[in-house]
Amino acid sequence: MKITVLSGGVGGARFLRGLRHHLRHVHPDGNGGTTDSITAVVNTGDDMWLTGLRISPDLDSIMYTLAGANDEERGWGRIGESERVSAELRAYGVGWPWFTLGDLDLGTHITRSHYLRSGLPLSEATARIAARWDLGLRLLPATDDEVETRVVIDDEGSTLHFQEWWTRHRASLPARAFLQQNVEAATPAPGVLEAIAEADLVLVAPSNPVVSIGTILGIPGIRHAVTTASAPVVGVSPVIGGAVVRGMADACLEAIGVATAADAVALHYGSRATGGVLDGWLVGGEDAAAVPVVLAAGIRAAAVPLWMRDLDTSAAIAREAIALALP
Ligand code: GDP
Ligand code: CA
Repeated sequence: MKITVLSGGVGGARFLRGLRHHLRHVHPDGNGGTTDSITAVVNTGDDMWLTGLRISPDLDSIMYTLAGANDEERGWGRIGESERVSAELRAYGVGWPWFTLGDLDLGTHITRSHYLRSGLPLSEATARIAARWDLGLRLLPATDDEVETRVVIDDEGSTLHFQEWWTRHRASLPARAFLQQNVEAATPAPGVLEAIAEADLVLVAPSNPVVSIGTILGIPGIRHAVTTASAPVVGVSPVIGGAVVRGMADACLEAIGVATAADAVALHYGSRATGGVLDGWLVGGEDAAAVPVVLAAGIRAAAVPLWMRDLDTSAAIAREAIALALP
């Protein structure tokens, strides 16, 4: 079975790790899981140039998590990380003092920047970087073009890079809107449209609906590919019991006028029957009351435990998503 997953960083990474575990160990296809394949189409709106290096936070969150090299406790970055280089950069007064780049992480950024400067597109740079690790899936940036998310923070239209708004200001400045800079000219990275069109199943990870999934769908051509895919499309709610599980995604939902509720996010994505992107939607056990609302919108729905506490709970969510899509 070919599964394509639209994904942001941390929430997406946990979900992908569960999906891989489910396919490999819980429900292998009889060939030890070897004919199942996963392609992750990953948000690049958080990407930026910093101190001469290209940073791709969501691609790296997924890569480190699936490689087992992530810092589980802190929730991001590499395990066993040190920050000596960042301290030097701070002493020189370059970079963002509130944005620490770990020493091991810098190795990834230097490698990526090296490939980009030698003329490779991000998708090829990503493939070469990912080849070092045993990820068990294909990592595709949504686009090779630099389409950075900017946040409008006042009536005059002043904007900040998403990363500055999120990390420095902890999403506390009310956001008026999110802009995808230069998105009109962007195209999906090679393989993205094919991965969606040729999939047996398309999954929308429990990622930020606005600045992760919304950003991917905003790349010209990708939303259309999802709405017209022959495979069913099932999403997993990142909102449980009226709250986002980790992070500050509620600030993003508020900015686009969507309530922080499992059913509201489903209605925002919309049913494929009416031009949206979903055939099915998983909500948390706490949100059973959302099921009839989602059903009434023409989207199949089920309430199941959605807390990704560990590998087993994440794998169970993947199983439920597959079951909802392919009953
Ligand atoms: P980011 O790019 O690192 O912000 O990560 P994503 O966009 O992939 O995911 C962020 C979202 O994941 C958050 O808004 C959370 O609501 C969601 N999330 C995190 N942990 C869990 C979990 O255990 N269960 C569910 N359902 N959602 C989660
Ligand atoms: Ca992100």
